[in-house]
Amino acid sequence: MTVPDTRVLGCDPAGIAEAAALIAAGQPVGVPTETVYGLAADALEGEAVARIYAAKGRPSFNPLIVHVPDLATAEAIGIFDELARGLVEAHWPGPLTLVVPLRPGATIASLVTAGLSTVALRVPAHPVMQALLRATARPLAAPSANASGRISPTRAEHVLASLGGRIPAVINGGPTQRGIESTIVAATGGELRLLRPGPISVPGAISAARGIEAPGQLATHYAPAKPVRLEASRAEAGEWLIGFGPVAGDATLSVSGDLVEAAANLFAALHAADAESPPKIAVAPVPEQGLGIAINDRLRRAAADHG
Ligand code: AMP
Ligand code: MG
Repeated sequence: MTVPDTRVLGCDPAGIAEAAALIAAGQPVGVPTETVYGLAADALEGEAVARIYAAKGRPSFNPLIVHVPDLATAEAIGIFDELARGLVEAHWPGPLTLVVPLRPGATIASLVTAGLSTVALRVPAHPVMQALLRATARPLAAPSANASGRISPTRAEHVLASLGGRIPAVINGGPTQRGIESTIVAATGGELRLLRPGPISVPGAISAARGIEAPGQLATHYAPAKPVRLEASRAEAGEWLIGFGPVAGDATLSVSGDLVEAAANLFAALHAADAESPPKIAVAPVPEQGLGIAINDRLRRAAADHG
């Protein structure tokens, strides 16, 4: 997405209200947290989440952290066991992210979790992010507000330097306090595992082996269990077709060839393909540009798993 100018909003009620209106309209907005500036969008809307990726130019889909105002809201989205609850009661609000099983029925966009059945949740302490969460009344998905491959921003000026002209607005809340990303702990199997070290140390957590569960490559990504054939112009025998643009499929990522819509529908389409009876999956060509790069990255990985 290109916007002529990125507006700098104040962190007063008027600025928060404008940011909340942009988020309600499906746009991503830069916002300070106590760690780094985040690029926040409505976690319930796949197309809004796709615009985070479009703005960052990220060449792949990683699961994003979902920010919520309090533990009660978090518990409506994820399932907290006793260990997880003990940890967040001690450290929330604060720079600690918990990866927990996604609660059945929670309506988080599948692009947020990259199709996984777990979700990363955090209750931030920063008053501006808290105010925005309450003004939007939505869980907000937010990775760091920098272009892919650039370092995390700790001032609104850093966000402008990296994403100026690519997002509609950033809220200026001054320099962030911590300057490093939140600690990430997984509480999915009756134990605590440290996925990313950060400002909060968690003495009881098992350190996840480097290279196996390093941030960005951990927990493996969701991939369908069936063989996947790419660049398909039609379905062959035994295939369930995921279409795009002119290639109509059993499900179609975007009839009009819109890449934001296609990204929003990607993981739901893969899950549907896996659940239907045909033993194989075929996928129509998706252009290798903009969000198509991340879509194709995910599709190629799904195909390679059976190569
Ligand atoms: P960032 O939003 O840039 O701070 O990065 C979020 C980090 O959380 C990435 O390293 C993700 O891989 C990790 N993460 C988010 N959700 C999950 C999940 N469901 N399972 C495992 N890791 C996750
Ligand atoms: Mg980052």
